[in-house]
Amino acid sequence: PCTDFDMAYFHSYSHLGIHEEMIKDRVRTETYRAAILQHQSSIEGKVVVDVGCGTGILSIFCAHAGAKRVYAVDASDIAVQANEVVKANNLSDTVIVLHGRVEDVEIDEEVDVIISEWMGYMLLYESMLGSVITARDRWLKPGGLILPSNATLYMAPVTHPDRYGESIDFWRNVYGIDMSAMLQLAKQCAFEEPCVETITGENVLTWPHVVKHVDCYTITIQELESVTTRYKFKSMMRAPLHGFAFWFDVEFSGPAIYPTNSDAPSSLSGSSSNSPIDGSQRKKRANPNEALVLSTAPEDPPTHWQQTLVYFYDPIEMEQDQLIEGSVTLSQSKENSRFMNIHLEYASGGRSFVKESVMR
Ligand code: SAH
Repeated sequence: PCTDFDMAYFHSYSHLGIHEEMIKDRVRTETYRAAILQHQSSIEGKVVVDVGCGTGILSIFCAHAGAKRVYAVDASDIAVQANEVVKANNLSDTVIVLHGRVEDVEIDEEVDVIISEWMGYMLLYESMLGSVITARDRWLKPGGLILPSNATLYMAPVTHPDRYGESIDFWRNVYGIDMSAMLQLAKQCAFEEPCVETITGENVLTWPHVVKHVDCYTITIQELESVTTRYKFKSMMRAPLHGFAFWFDVEFSGPAIYPTNSDAPSSLSGSSSNSPIDGSQRKKRANPNEALVLSTAPEDPPTHWQQTLVYFYDPIEMEQDQLIEGSVTLSQSKENSRFMNIHLEYASGGRSFVKESVMR
């Protein structure tokens, strides 16, 4: 059912500014275009569905790559303009704009390719991936292509003294007045909610941890309702730890190839295992080395996703090699499934903490 929250969500995509921001993100848009060209042989003469077409840009890239038909689906009113864009580019015979939810529209054939730009802040915010899964399960042919094919969400501990100074330490001396009385309030206002902002590799204290890996071919909607991971980091330097940064990348590789029985070695010497999770049976992908990657990591060129920071109210002074460990749970909010609850537990130097926040 389409809730009021969905209505508000789709309404937010009727404003041009949000599409302008995405299209002007060249890292994003050009990686998609390059991926479409890289997979041109799987798109030429084929049927494509663009899940959440917005202005229609990815649908038109696919049409230019030779798709036979592209179903461009969007529930937002931006679909009206997308249809005009398609007409003005003489692509009405190829690109069919469907103004409605992927969950509700009818497409009377199976499709060869699904393309979608569904990634939200911290990857899973907005929970649009569920709609890609729905499209996959409704229309994708066996062996069809999904772009992007997989995604990974990462986290790492960060130090950010400038940011902490501007927002918090600032109150210690305001035009010579001691406003430390504001400190509690300042911490709450600045850091209660996750912050979408840009950091650099220099803010990051050690290697990232994988929070969640998503295979778009096999992931289920239930799996996304709540994601939990345990992490353990060892700081590579002495620095105040201000919180954790989250970022993601997505990969545009070919369809997963699951070895058939005839491909699998019947018996490896010294191994009598026939288990499906035996190494020899692990899934492989077409051209794994050549897959294009759209990265939103701090060390890579910036995108409109930036990074998402979950700050602590009080920094922890880390020594080199000091451990910090705990867990993170990301779950869809009960109040509005587009919102995300972030439950963070962290312990270091014999003290432990819990921080709850909501990304609205
Ligand atoms: N593909 C475009 C727009 C991406 S933004 C581009 O790359 O520029 C995501 C779009 O998906 C929004 O326009 C939003 O309205 C649409 N969308 C999200 N969930 C949807 C659903 N369940 N059904 C149809 N459209 C959806």
